[in-house]
This record gives sequence, structure tokens and C-alpha cells, in this order.
Amino acid sequence: MTGLVVAMDGPSGSGKSSASRGVARALGLRYLDTGAMYRAVTWWMLQQGVDLGSPSAIAARAGEPVLEIGADPDAPSIAVGGVDVAGPIRSHEVTAAVSAVSAVPEVRSRLVAEQRAVIGAGDIVVEGRDIGTVVAPAAQVKIYLTASAEARAQRRTAELAGSTVEAQRTAMARRDTLDSTRKADPLAMAGDAVELDTTALNLDEVIAEVLRLVKETT
Ligand code: C5P
Repeated sequence: MTGLVVAMDGPSGSGKSSASRGVARALGLRYLDTGAMYRAVTWWMLQQGVDLGSPSAIAARAGEPVLEIGADPDAPSIAVGGVDVAGPIRSHEVTAAVSAVSAVPEVRSRLVAEQRAVIGAGDIVVEGRDIGTVVAPAAQVKIYLTASAEARAQRRTAELAGSTVEAQRTAMARRDTLDSTRKADPLAMAGDAVELDTTALNLDEVIAEVLRLVKETT
């Protein structure tokens, strides 16, 4: 790895996506949303009628969906088998099912390999749950974004029409528990990551702080 890799990990609603895209834009880097890849595989499994209660059923089909992911921070794109799924992967159905799919080691190993292929020689901001720990442990900059449960639920509610803060808080707590207690590559902060609590910060402040850390580290 020669170019810069910025690993941005953290739980849902911590502000990873907006901050990662903003940092990539500011530095002229590419941007990879690994969560979108787990969501795309989940969307495909739902389309195919795979029993998501069965890890072995998920594992058996894990190699089938063909993903195409774009790394332009101004126009991130994701397709499965040639179908643009950027919208559908944000549905409530996919969000509720994704942790069951992402916990399956066969899904993870293939997506981690694809993520490493996209990262290639670097010059990229990569967001997810296991970037600093598993996907790119040699990343020069590792940031772990957090925020209070209340702030995270409020942000997600503002993004999604027709939801309540209470419903979001419950759904996010469930997903975080599943993501951080699974056996394969759980959500975790890398030992050498910098933790950034975004509870009291707006987006511009988060981006500015990450840019400061990048400057300091590189
Ligand atoms: O970041 P986002 O909320 O879109 O991620 C959706 C889901 O994908 C997470 O809840 C998690 O189950 C899974 N994921 C993962 N590893 C990553 C990125 C996302 O397991 N690196």
C-alpha cells in the first residue's frame, strides 16, 4: 500500500458516511462505503428468497451476487447483477436484515477480498465496522466515530421520513448489538485508532477534525 488510506469505523448513526464523503472530497480521494456492499448482498438474498434465519443457506449463496461499486465521493453507486440498488439498499427491510447476512463468515470473506481490491494502492477513505481492524490494518489514519445513542437516533430520524427517535433508538441498539457481538470481524475499535465523539459536533466540525488528524498523522 503506497497511497493514503483513511479508515473510518463506528456504529450506525455516528456520522461516518457524511464525514467520510466530505473528507474524501476535501482531499481528492476515492470513497468506499463497505456497508453498502453488505446491504447489496442482503437485498439480493431477499430478492432470491434465501432464508435469512439460516446462516448455512446464506453461506451457500454468498458467492453468487455480482457487485459493482463506484468510488466517486460525489456520486457513490452500487449495483447487483447490473441492477442499480442505491435506493433499495436503504429500505427498512434491508436495514433490519443486514446484520444477519453480515455475520456470516462466507459473506465477509468475499466482501473483504473485494474491498481490498478496490482499496488497491490507496488514496481512499473507507468506511465500515472492521476497516481498521481487518480490511486495512495498515491504514495510515484510523478513526473510530462515536456519538451518544440519543444523537445517533436523532440523526437517523432526520434522514428517514416517517420514523420516530424512539423507534430508531431501538432499531440501532439492536443492530449495534448484533454487529459487535458476532464472531466474525465484529464492530470494534482498532487499538491504534483515534476515537472521535461527534455528539456535540456538526458535520463541518467532524470533517475539520478528521482533516486535522490526517495532517497530523501523514
Ligand atoms: O454502514 P451501514 O449502516 O450501511 O452498514 C450496514 C450493515 O453492514 C451494518 O449494520 C453491519 O451489519 C454491516 N457492515 C459490516 N462491516 C462493515 C460495514 C458494514 O458488517 N465493514
